[in-house]
Amino acid sequence: KAQIDPMEYLSLYDLLTPEELEVRKAVEAFVAKEVTPKINDYVEAAQFPTEIVNAVKPLKLFHHFLNKPYGHGTSYTKQGIILMEAARADAGFATFIAVQNLLLNYTLEKFGSEAQKQKYLTKTRDIEYIGGWGLTEKGYGSDASSLTSNVKKVQGGYILNGDKRWIGNGNKDVLIVWARNLDTNKVEGFIVETKWPGYHAEVIQGKLALRIVQNCQITFTNIFIPDENKLESVTDFQNGPNQVLMHSRVIVPWIALGVMRGVYEHSLKWTTTRKQFGKYLASFQLQQERLVRILSTFQASFLMVLRLSRLAAEGKATIGMISSVKAWVTDKTREVARLGREMLGGDGIISDNYVIKALTDAEVLYTYEGTYDINSLVAGREITGIGAFK
Ligand code: FAD
Repeated sequence: KAQIDPMEYLSLYDLLTPEELEVRKAVEAFVAKEVTPKINDYVEAAQFPTEIVNAVKPLKLFHHFLNKPYGHGTSYTKQGIILMEAARADAGFATFIAVQNLLLNYTLEKFGSEAQKQKYLTKTRDIEYIGGWGLTEKGYGSDASSLTSNVKKVQGGYILNGDKRWIGNGNKDVLIVWARNLDTNKVEGFIVETKWPGYHAEVIQGKLALRIVQNCQITFTNIFIPDENKLESVTDFQNGPNQVLMHSRVIVPWIALGVMRGVYEHSLKWTTTRKQFGKYLASFQLQQERLVRILSTFQASFLMVLRLSRLAAEGKATIGMISSVKAWVTDKTREVARLGREMLGGDGIISDNYVIKALTDAEVLYTYEGTYDINSLVAGREITGIGAFK
């Protein structure tokens, strides 16, 4: 029986550079050997996959997310390809990579001093430290720029108080904290070590999506941050966390592509091997229509996300373009995941069969990095010139 690769089918590989193709192949091979066979034990236990993350270290994979001299040199598409391949096995694993690289390491690279890069970025890049990026608070999700975690200047540093919610890797080694300076009322950025007195993180329990990601509720109680841990080049919310989100939102839809491709692969394999009524499921017209819909949705989304990544590399992607692609592609991922789950029948709810994970994980892709609504309204503001949400 034919097993069409959705990338080969429209010659989508031809749109990638030799370096992107090479990195994709290497990550695909790593994921097949180290991630796919092991990840679901961690998914079921909702545990951080330490063994798998340790296996990533020798690959120097995170060097691909940084420019020289700290990394190999990077591009939006190369970063996206890595996340897409990771998400074919597990969107939670891809999200772990995204948090550490698109949020934490990118912030250090963009806003950090040389001393901060030497001290922290060299370690977070080599996974000696694991860390997170704290913007969202209990009272401020979509309305993140109104955040109330705050710092007060004191001799030699700052005193930090407040809370953060949903922070991936918030219980590991370091955290970028976005907090309001009480003297200027501006949002500023700080590198906080989780071992400092006054830092308390609790993993949020009962989370039925992105199971391996350790999302935390964090409280800061009179934490002393030395002056050298302030990100001096951050000036406010716009020239701070918003710049990071403009960057990560271009790349996050690649995780959604990986989920769509994973759903396609699992549902194609299932329907071409399981028989009912004496025939393979794939021989029924209803199933074929679903497979083609998944295939085409993946391909259309791929073209959109790749185009956005190339435009962003040329500095031509606007905030509205970035938001509309993120919103549309993650919405389509929900549809694809639902179709795939239907096609596997009862076995579609077993984690090893991927599609149920895709269904729940798609809910987070649709929600984090700005919800579907907020991203739609950002794009809506750009195309109409009328702001509808703030
Ligand atoms: P709310 O803002 O309360 O929104 C609830 C609903 O109301 C949504 O449907 C929303 O679209 C809608 N809504 C809100 N305002 C409007 C409006 N003006 N018009 C129309 N509709 C509106 N944050 C971090 O800082 N770091 C992380 O590492 C991180 N990781 C995450 C991981 C997971 C698993 C999740 C679930 C979230 C994570 N987040 C993280 C937070 C994430 O970015 C927020 O959940 C998201 O921005 C939405 O905020 P909220 O959950 O408070 O929802």
